[in-house]
Formats: sequence, structure tokens, C-alpha cells
Amino acid sequence: MLRSLSPSSFAGSEAALAPGRIVRAGLCVGCGACAAQEGVDARMVLDRFGRFKPEASRDWLAEPSEDLARACPFSPVARNEDELAAMRFPNAARSDARIGRFEAAYVGYADEGGFRENGSSGGMTSWVAAELLRRGLVDAVAHVTPTAHPQKGDVLFGYSISRTAAEVSAGAKSRYYPVELSRTIAAIRSTPGRYAVTGVPCFIKALQLLSAEDELLRERIAFYLGLFCGHMKSAALAESFAWQLGVAPDEIDAFDFRTKDARRPANWYRARIGCKDGGERAQDWWHLVDGDWGAGFFQYPACNFCDDVVAETADVSFGDAWLEPYASDGRGTNVVVVRSPPIQALLREAAAEGRVRLEEVDADFVHATQAAGFRQRREGLAWRLSRRRFGVRPNKRVAAQAPPLRARRKLVYRQRELISFWSHRMFWLAKRLRAPWLYTAWARLALGVYQACAHSRGRLGRLLDQIEAAAKGRGAKRP
Ligand SMILES: Cc1cc2nc3c(=O)[nH]c(=O)nc-3n(C[C@H](O)[C@H](O)[C@H](O)COP(=O)(O)OP(=O)(O)OC[C@H]3O[C@@H](n4cnc5c(N)ncnc54)[C@H](O)[C@@H]3O)c2cc1C
Repeated sequence: MLRSLSPSSFAGSEAALAPGRIVRAGLCVGCGACAAQEGVDARMVLDRFGRFKPEASRDWLAEPSEDLARACPFSPVARNEDELAAMRFPNAARSDARIGRFEAAYVGYADEGGFRENGSSGGMTSWVAAELLRRGLVDAVAHVTPTAHPQKGDVLFGYSISRTAAEVSAGAKSRYYPVELSRTIAAIRSTPGRYAVTGVPCFIKALQLLSAEDELLRERIAFYLGLFCGHMKSAALAESFAWQLGVAPDEIDAFDFRTKDARRPANWYRARIGCKDGGERAQDWWHLVDGDWGAGFFQYPACNFCDDVVAETADVSFGDAWLEPYASDGRGTNVVVVRSPPIQALLREAAAEGRVRLEEVDADFVHATQAAGFRQRREGLAWRLSRRRFGVRPNKRVAAQAPPLRARRKLVYRQRELISFWSHRMFWLAKRLRAPWLYTAWARLALGVYQACAHSRGRLGRLLDQIEAAAKGRGAKRP
């Protein structure tokens, strides 16, 4: 299903794009690559739905720009992941249509320094970042850390630059929260040194696109540490969780999306909120109306048009091993895809010294840990691309051809789109009206229908199963 496009495949498409058109087409993921370009007077701000967007003069937003067309990760004329990976890893030992070019893939965890205990998964991301610092391979790590004691209007998390292993460790954990790179890129430009940067796939792609055009960034960003990604969430996810736990957004002092408990399965996510009054609230995602990741609550619209699950352009990427026996192991286990030979050498050495525990796996294993993500980004994307769209047409490695799908599967993909679209709006309206119930009532209903369709839950789920079985039976009887 995956096809490879070269720039010539885009013949006839526009070489210049206005930032405003990308935003209006729902293709802006808020990464800040546009605002980070030299000479650009734009800044990244949260919109009313809690998603980063560029803010600048009307002229800039409306002005077609070739630089933007080359740097925006969702631009149809920018280099795609295959092209960027071919440039960065020309001699990769292996290549797979799902996980891209790579040297080796592993399942495992960091076995020293508390990295596993402090990390969301197996702690390998923070371990590699700290090891790069320890070996002097980088001077600093740009990653996403909490805002200390946020005040009204502050974001809860943002990119910051750590220069010691202790700072890297303190910034561990996954933030399912909007972030942007423009300030970090400005800091990298202004302070000489070698940097490692963590990021979800489209953010790493944005950095690769910028670096391809900018020698200074190319020299300074030495390592790209990718995170597998299901989709990006708006700030509303954290606010809604808090709301449902009786904490007003302004009362949040600290937020942990995934607390760790070695006695519980790793995939039973539990959020914990530290309150300004010193109290604490915690709840399993499962008991929150928008805690079913697959339903797509508060997803950025651009994520509907992404085909990279495992950060194919990163030197190394990290995800969760969502397969048994690892998924049930509450201590957390990573899947790691290595693409850069220096990182491969570093991991081999550390494994021999017993500092990390890694078992080699193949591309099928990596794919199986992310099966749902790949369905959504490949089969689901092909179906979404085949539908009519206005504005900028995304140009993906997946062909815009509707795959042969059961009606119920299409319904699942459609519901995800609708839930992500309406969750932003319903939450915003409920906030305006100070009526949390309005959002939670809607979300409960939407979730019920989604789970009936996707997981055969409840009476509606059973009814849909029966209808499907009857339709199949009729189909089988036909001559
Ligand atoms: C939005 C999002 C969606 C994800 N979706 C999936 C998925 O579908 N499947 C899957 O297997 N894994 C997914 N992950 C990755 C997963 O949650 C873990 O981050 C990953 O397994 C690494 O765990 P670790 O224990 O090695 O990392 P840790 O040792 O906990 O370190 C994580 C590092 O990443 C940095 N970081 C945290 N959040 C962000 C962010 N938003 N942007 C950039 N850097 C960040 C932290 O500062 C820290 O340096 C997602 C992560 C994010 C942020």
C-alpha cells in the first residue's frame, strides 16, 4: 500500500505555499517549523482549542512561500520520509515499508540509574539522551519538560534544553500535550554546541527538513531521538482530565499522564494531578470519558494525514512494546528502532555491559506492537485520502485509493474523525458556558457509539455484531 514518491511525483503541484492555507486545510500540527525560519516574524500560540498555530501578520499568513513549502512537514511539496531517510541513512542495513530504513530493532529497557522506573515506558529515551551527554557526543538535549508551578495561562509542558544527565532524567515521561519547536530552534541557532532533540515523527521530519536547508542547524543537531506516535493531543486532554477529577485547570500544579505501578499492566494508563492546594488526584484513563486513545479525542486534525508511526527519519526511535508479555509488565518495556550506526554501537556496548537489556526483534514484531496505529495510518489514511477534500491536498506515501473495507471498519474511521473534530468544539463550548456536563455527556455518548462499533461493547455493539453476521450470511448464500 505504501508507495514512494520523489519530488518529480509532485509535478504540477505548487512550489510555494502560504502558511494560512496549511492552517485552513487542517494540516498544521503546530510544530513551529514555519515560525522558526530565519527572517520570519511569526510566533506560535495556542488557538481557542488548545492547539499551537502560527500567529503573524495577515500578509505573512497569506503570502505563498517556497521556504515554507519545503519546511512544513505536511506540505505536499516537501521531501517525504523516504527521501529524508535515504539522505540521512544511505547505507542502512535494512528497509521495511512500515518502519523505514533501519540498522536493528530491539525490545527492552534501561537497567541502571532509575531510568526505567522514571520513564513512561522502558526509560530508553532518557537513557540514550543521558548517555550521549555522558560520552560528550552532545552538549545538550532539547526535550519536553514540565512548567514548574504553572500560573494561569501557562502551558503545562514545553521544550527546554537540558545540559546534565540529572536534568534529562527529571524531564522523563511522555507528554500528550501540544508543544512547538520555534523557540528551541532559535536557542539552538543562538548557542553553539551539539544537540540531541526528542520529538514525535512529524517534529523530527520538520527538523530534518529545516536542517536540509540550513547548514547551522545541520551542524548543531547531531542526533534526532524519535518517539513513536499515535497522534498529537490538544491542551484540552489535560484540562478535561483535571475537570473530571474536580480540579480547575488553573489549580493544576503538576500533571503526569502515565504514573507507573509495577504491579499493574503497563497499558493501564493512570493520570495523576498535583493540585496547587497540595492535594493530589489520580484516575485510570479508562474511567475518563475521553481516555480511550483510539477514539481520537482532541487529536490534531493534521494527524489524519500522517503516514509515519515510528519516526522514520530519526536516528533512533522509541515506543511502547504493546505485545504480551511486555504489555502486562507494569515496569514498562520499549521497542527501539535504530537507524544511526553510532547509536547502534553505543547500544551494543551498553548491552554487553548489562546497562541496558535489549533483545533483537524484526520489523514484524515492531509492527505488531503498533498494529492499531499502522491500521489508522495506512489503511485508514488510504480511505481518508480517497475522499473529497477542499484546500491543500496532502501528498502521502499511501496511495489515495479506497481499500476494500467492511462498512463497519469505515464507520470506525469516520467516528474517529468526527470525535476528534467535535471534541475540540464541544469542550470549548462547555468551557465558555462553564458547563462541564455538556462536554462529558456528549463525550460519553460518542464514546459509547465508538466502542460499540470498534469493540462490540454494550447492547449496540451486540446489535451491530448481529447485523454484520446476518449480512455476511446473506452474502454467503448468494450464488
Ligand atoms: C504524543 C505522543 C504520542 C505517542 N504515541 C505512541 C504510540 O502510539 N505508540 C507507542 O508505542 N508510543 C507512543 N508514544 C511514545 C511513548 O509514549 C513513550 O514516549 C516512548 O515509548 C518512550 O518511552 P521512554 O520510557 O523510553 O521515555 P522516557 O525515558 O520517559 O523519556 C521520554 C522523553 O521524551 C520527551 N518527550 C515527552 N513528550 C514529548 C513530546 N510530546 N515531544 C517531544 N519529546 C517529548 C521527554 O522530555 C523525555 O526526554 C507517544 C508519545 C507522545 C509524546
